[in-house]
Amino acid sequence: MHGSHQPPTIHLSQQSRRFRMSAFVCVLGSSSRGNATAISFDDSGRFILVDAGLTPKRVRGALVEAGASARFHTLRAIFLTHLDRDHWSPSWAKQLQCSPVPVILRRAHAEQAIALGVPAACLRPIDGAFRLGETAEVRPIAVPHDEIGSTAFRFDCDHASIGHATDLGHVTAELLEAFRDLDMLSIESNYDEALQRRSSRPESIKERIMGGRGHLSNEQSVEAARLLTASGTVRHLVLLHLSQECNRPQIVRDLFCARLPAMAESLVISRPNEPTPLLQVRRREAAVA
Ligand SMILES: [Zn+2]
Repeated sequence: MHGSHQPPTIHLSQQSRRFRMSAFVCVLGSSSRGNATAISFDDSGRFILVDAGLTPKRVRGALVEAGASARFHTLRAIFLTHLDRDHWSPSWAKQLQCSPVPVILRRAHAEQAIALGVPAACLRPIDGAFRLGETAEVRPIAVPHDEIGSTAFRFDCDHASIGHATDLGHVTAELLEAFRDLDMLSIESNYDEALQRRSSRPESIKERIMGGRGHLSNEQSVEAARLLTASGTVRHLVLLHLSQECNRPQIVRDLFCARLPAMAESLVISRPNEPTPLLQVRRREAAVA
């Protein structure tokens, strides 16, 4: 991290220092109908969610469906990229009243979070990098999306570095810098430009999506992935938030395999209503004992 001083720490109960062999990631669902990704940084069974756009019930169901409910049994924190309905389902408000966990977001989103039902007692607004308990260092990166932007996150734990970026109108220099040398890159590949232009959506919506403060096209996404995988560290490339109306998984797969043949084996395309396989993420040099 930058500077010589230690980043602040958000303390969590019941830390576990055991078994930090790998991180595990499962995208539980990703589309404009709802987004949530589960990440564990160790083998303790504790996990975080990046976005809570699926209901708590759907999150539990997707973890079972992925065969991952043993590895992800205790939710320790929720990170919100932003507060659009597909990233924060109000059904979490009640759940958090009963079982509070920190809800971590950039300070720019705090007011909106309260208005949309995030319990104030759970809210942890952040301004920059911090340590999540003892297990991971987190760096939030503001990215352009609508009025107040979205947030990309970089997570560095003992055995892996993971980048997660969705709902961004374009890729900024800051994001490219922050996402260097990842082991896993999750990035949105929202729309095929031709399908977007041909769609029956109102022009104002198309302009919002394609105007630099909406979403990444497949072309923008593959170009970002090309830059971010060039160093050769990335072992998992996960594509998020495909538009159901203006994109097709096969178009995305064909494009990425043609342009990034070295990543073809590592490519995972997330689905709206089904979880990805459980992905085990480790640094390349630490891969085999
Ligand atoms: Zn979204």
